[in-house]
Amino acid sequence: MTGVGGGTPAGGGGTGAGGRARLLDLSPEELAGLAESLGERPYRGRQLAAWLFRKGAAAFSEMTDVSLRCREALAARAEIGPALAEMARDGSPDGAVKTLWRLPDGLRTESVLIPDGERRTLCVSSQAGCAVGCLFCRTGAMGLRRNLTQGEILGQVLPCRRATPGGTPVTNLVFMGMGEPFHNLANVRRALRILNDPEFMAFPRRQTTLSTIGVVPALRSLTASDLKTSLAVSLNSPFQEERDRLMPGARAHPLAELREALRDLPLRKGRRVTLAYVLLGGVNDTPAHAEALARWAGGLRAKINLIPFNPWPGAPFRRPSEGAAEAFRGVLTGRGLTALTRRSYGREVAAACGQLAGESGSLRGGWGA
Ligand code: SF4
Repeated sequence: MTGVGGGTPAGGGGTGAGGRARLLDLSPEELAGLAESLGERPYRGRQLAAWLFRKGAAAFSEMTDVSLRCREALAARAEIGPALAEMARDGSPDGAVKTLWRLPDGLRTESVLIPDGERRTLCVSSQAGCAVGCLFCRTGAMGLRRNLTQGEILGQVLPCRRATPGGTPVTNLVFMGMGEPFHNLANVRRALRILNDPEFMAFPRRQTTLSTIGVVPALRSLTASDLKTSLAVSLNSPFQEERDRLMPGARAHPLAELREALRDLPLRKGRRVTLAYVLLGGVNDTPAHAEALARWAGGLRAKINLIPFNPWPGAPFRRPSEGAAEAFRGVLTGRGLTALTRRSYGREVAAACGQLAGESGSLRGGWGA
């Protein structure tokens, strides 16, 4: 059984003090295997999974329908509770709340809760840092430290599964925090199984979005069933050279190959991919960019989200003017494409990816260690 007694689940960290398993890193099947190895009946695994993933148990004593003998045996072999600890939480007047998390090895990651009318979207991280190095993203400057485990992904969601700091349950999940989720696909898939399982965390798959730079082999591996989960592809320039410069880690996936992979996706009827485009003032927000983007996206089953850049102090880019953003959108809609301009939430808490971590100063120290 992976992850028990010193193993590591699907490429993640996964073990706690003394090499004990972290229960949040185990799948329901692995929990059943652990229960069996302790002399328990297999149904005990499902029971443990319900306590961990549905009821959010943080102590063995909370598992009142599990025998004391079993709980003691578990406590000797495994750790319960989230692998990450909240270090800081910062709110913005528009309601966005950003949380900085400390991982067991001292690295940091983060999540952001974004309210929007009836929607409460939780933006979660899949990695500590990121290898892609987008120039408009603070996380990009940090480099990749490691993938998050299943439990470290779930640990960002568990505290606000029932109620957010504002008192309302999370309605939507987006993997748009730190990291490229397709670079950690094994652990992201493990977490998604639990997040989307009606028996456990029960987030509808349509309201769960994976956001990627467009890792072509991973896109080509997606099945129709995978695509019940929503997909967003971060584009940011329709020009190859410029995209290579803005998103160095995307060079391996040229625009032409990316377009073909998107065209070939086995999307179900009525489903579309989102193309995300961060508008950088005076850089990629010109009419020529909009025309080229319209040509590139034409014929794809896609809608376009335009996201005005959210500058931080010392950022190398500026926010586009409202006029430029609106004109850009007008070119796209004039070519028959669906294009929306997204509000930038949490400007006061610097909610673009990686920004709180960068501001805390602690990441730099921690990461360089
Ligand atoms: S924008 Fe996303 S993919 Fe690019 S560096 Fe930041 S976290 Fe990585």
